[in-house]
Amino acid sequence: MSELKILSVASEVFPLIKTGGLADVVGALPAALARESVTVRTLVPGYPAVLAKLTDAQPAHAYDDLFGGPARILAGVAAGLDLFAIEAPHLYERPGNPYLGPDGFDWPDNARRFAALSRVGADIGLGIIDAFRPQIVHVHDWQAALAAAYLHYADRPGPGVVTTIHNMAFQGHFATSLFGELGLPPQALSIDGVEYYGGVGYLKAGLRLADRITTVSPTYAREILTPEFGMGLDGLLRTRAAIVQGIVNGIDDTVWNPAADPALPQTFNAQRIDMRVRNKTSLQARMGLASGVDRTLFGVISRLSDQKGLDLLLQALPSLVARGGQLALLGSGERSLEAGFAAAAASRPDSVACAFGYDETLAHLIQAGADFIVVPSRFEPCGLTQLCALRYGAPPIVARVGGLADTVIDANEAAITAGVATGVQFYPPSFESLTHALSRALGLIRDPAASRRLRLNGMRSDVSWRGPAKRYASLYRELASPLE
Ligand code: ADP
Repeated sequence: MSELKILSVASEVFPLIKTGGLADVVGALPAALARESVTVRTLVPGYPAVLAKLTDAQPAHAYDDLFGGPARILAGVAAGLDLFAIEAPHLYERPGNPYLGPDGFDWPDNARRFAALSRVGADIGLGIIDAFRPQIVHVHDWQAALAAAYLHYADRPGPGVVTTIHNMAFQGHFATSLFGELGLPPQALSIDGVEYYGGVGYLKAGLRLADRITTVSPTYAREILTPEFGMGLDGLLRTRAAIVQGIVNGIDDTVWNPAADPALPQTFNAQRIDMRVRNKTSLQARMGLASGVDRTLFGVISRLSDQKGLDLLLQALPSLVARGGQLALLGSGERSLEAGFAAAAASRPDSVACAFGYDETLAHLIQAGADFIVVPSRFEPCGLTQLCALRYGAPPIVARVGGLADTVIDANEAAITAGVATGVQFYPPSFESLTHALSRALGLIRDPAASRRLRLNGMRSDVSWRGPAKRYASLYRELASPLE
C-alpha cells in the first residue's frame, strides 16, 4: 500500500486543548490511521496550551502579516502528535477556552482567528512547506472549513479536500463586511462560494467546495439532508448528497480501558465484571450519594445544553428518585440547567449528586461505576459518551437519533433473544419516552442475568478507531491524486 500524506486542520485536539468530541476525534485519528499507512500531520492554532507542550519546535514558515500580525508555522511533536502549530500571538495567545473570552462570549475576532487557521491549512496544502506536501487536506468543522475556499480559489491546483461536520449547530456565519479581509477573490462572494444568506458562511463554504463531505455517523449523514437537522444547510447538502457519507467515531481504547485505567479504584474486564461494583460504591461515596449496591445508579457526563436534552432528564428526575433511582451528573454549561440539577441535588442529596465543571478522572469513575449512562440528546452527530459507556459496562440509555441510533442496540425482545442488545433506545426525545426508557432500565436491572448480558455485550462491541480508520483511509485513497 502506498503511503498517503494528510493534513488535518482543526481548532482543538485532545489532549492539548478540548471543548468536545471534535478534539477527541482529531487527537485519536492520526495513530489509528498510521496503522493504515496514512501519515497525518495536524495543524492547530498555537494557543498557550499547545505551544507549552510542543517539543523540538522548528520554524517551518514565516508570515510577515497573518490577519494583523506576524506569525510562524512551527513543526513539532506534542503528546505524541505530529503537529504544525500557528504561532501568532495577536490571534491565539489567550488562555482558556479556544473560542470564548473571559466574559463567556465569543472572541470578537473569531472570524479572523479561524480564517487564519484555514489560510495556513490551504497554504500547506499548496506546498508552502517543502518537507510536507499533503495529498489531502482534511478540514474539521467551521473553524477550518474556509481552507476549502482558499484552495478552490488558489492560482494553482491543490490537494483534495475532505470536510467533516462534527456538529451542524456551529456554522461560522459572519457579516459580509468581513469579506474584504479574507484575501479571497471577488468571485468567491457568490452562492457557489462563501456567500451565505447575505453574509459569509465558513462551514457553508467548506461544504460547497469540498471534494468529499463526511459526518460522524451514517444516521446523522441522512438527518442533515432534512430541514429538521440540516440547520439551514440541508438544501445545499442535498445537492451534494452523492459525496456525503457518515463514518462513526471510535474512542481511544488505551485511554478508555477499564482493565488498566489509573482513574479507577477497581479495574475490571469482561471476565471480572463482578468487580465493577466497587467502582459504584466509590462513586456513591465520592459524590455523597447514599451507599447501596441495590440502588440503581444512572450517570450523565455531558455539556449542559439544549442539544443534550438534559432538561428532559431533570423533568423525569422526581419519578426516577421516587422509584429508588440515583443520579450522578458531571457537566457544565447552561446556568439554568446547572441550577435545576443543583436544586434537585439539594432536595435529595442521598439520590442526586452533581459536579459542575470539566473532570476527566470523575468522568472515568462515572463510566465505571454507574449502572446506566443516560444520553437523551435531541440531536447527536455521533456522541462519544455512549461509546465509553459500552466499553465500561454501563449500558447507555439513548435517544434514537444520529450516532446514538447507530451505536447502541436496543434491548427489545428480539435483540435480547438474539443476544445482541447493548442498551436502551427511546424516541422521540421527550419527557414521556425518556421516562418510559428509564422504567425499562429499572426493569432490566431486576433481572441480574439479563443486565449482566447487556453489560457484557457492550463491553465486547468494537468501539475502537480501527474500523473508522479503515473507512477514512479508503476515502482518502479514493480521492488522492496519483502519486507523482
Ligand atoms: P460533544 O462533543 O457534543 O460535547 P460528545 O459525546 O461527542 O459530545 O463528546 C464529548 C466528550 O467529552 C465525551 O467523551 C464526554 O464524556 C466528555 N465530557 C463532556 N462533558 C464532560 C465533563 N464535564 N467532564 C469530563 N468529560 C466530559
